[in-house]
Amino acid sequence: MSRITATLCAIFWTLAASFAGAPGAQAQTLSGLARVDAATSGFSEGWRGEVTLSLGLSQGVPWRVFQLETPRRLVLDFREVDWRGLEPEALGSAEGIGAVRFGQFRPGWSRMVIELEAVLGVETAALTVDEVSGGAQVQVTLVPVSQDRYGALAGAPRDPRWDLPEPARVATTTEPTRPDWAPIVVVIDPGHGGIDPGAERDDVNEKTLMLRFGRELRDTLRRTGAFEVVLTRDEDVFVSLERRVSIAHDVGADIFISLHADALSEGHATGATVYTLSDEASDRASEILAERHDRADILAGVDLSQADDEVADVLLDLARLETQPRTELFADMLVARIAEATGSLNKKPLRHAGFSVLKAADVPSVLLEVGFLSSAQDLERLTDPNWRALMAGAVRDALLAWVEEDEAMRALLRQ
Ligand SMILES: [Zn+2]
Repeated sequence: MSRITATLCAIFWTLAASFAGAPGAQAQTLSGLARVDAATSGFSEGWRGEVTLSLGLSQGVPWRVFQLETPRRLVLDFREVDWRGLEPEALGSAEGIGAVRFGQFRPGWSRMVIELEAVLGVETAALTVDEVSGGAQVQVTLVPVSQDRYGALAGAPRDPRWDLPEPARVATTTEPTRPDWAPIVVVIDPGHGGIDPGAERDDVNEKTLMLRFGRELRDTLRRTGAFEVVLTRDEDVFVSLERRVSIAHDVGADIFISLHADALSEGHATGATVYTLSDEASDRASEILAERHDRADILAGVDLSQADDEVADVLLDLARLETQPRTELFADMLVARIAEATGSLNKKPLRHAGFSVLKAADVPSVLLEVGFLSSAQDLERLTDPNWRALMAGAVRDALLAWVEEDEAMRALLRQ
């Protein structure tokens, strides 16, 4: 058992470059992308109660493995793996192993996250490369450990080549005056991405659908000539909730719109719903939705959030006092335009919840559930390009109306 200490939390590297001379391996090395082989990948159990994860890769790549708590999970990072052809179910199951997810984490990096239902620690971890074929095999063996040992050894490695982007800067309360001729900067935030697929229904998932709608909305807004549009992600990649907010700051967003199409098991949720930020959720379903997004973010990424800073909190509250009425104005207009254009509104179309992604204190921010994947009717609408065009038009019209009204209101305030 002493080997656990040596290997848990360690970072393992292997260099694909050293195999560049092997016959047939050249092209693979140049691509820098290892393909996963479903046939040689899966979990197995040993007689000591150990669980081994094997992953077959088309070539060796730099990688690392570490473990985290709350929830307990094993994280494997690779540079970089093409996961196509592998479904989580194909890995099989083993005692103590929970849900498995994998995907692109950030450009150039892939991640696999395995939830641990039992207290299992890494005993050995290795990547071996076959010198003839150039193919690689990853083997991570987990053994039962005490909770104390797990707690002492778990933690994210700090390595600038791998870590998440810097935490968001604290918002300032002073707003630079924007010249009249400057376009309105709209940040569109397609929900989920990469390792975090969001809701799934049949062969449709939220991350793909929202990226598609995000791009369509961007093009619709650009055609007016009135908006500069920035997407928080323009590919299938994981972006942390915190990073989404800091992108809005970095580009000087005038407004932030997060796009989702979640699944809600209770209450037969259907129709577009607009959420704004509040400490108190307007109902249990809204609360569950906000919690689920935070949990998905923690699972997919590494939780680097620090304890709240009281001074920063006061400043944020002050900024929100100014931002909140502007957000509510936009939310009202959005609901009205969606009703006109699509007629597809939730019974209670305006709700509040503590969505982390809406926490840019100085940028009016809304989260638009375009529809719910759990509703057959919504699924049909969301996958219909004509319907999505109506929805994009509604958002555009709401934005145009909001900009006019918002500027008039702010001119009054300045007098
Ligand atoms: Zn979502």
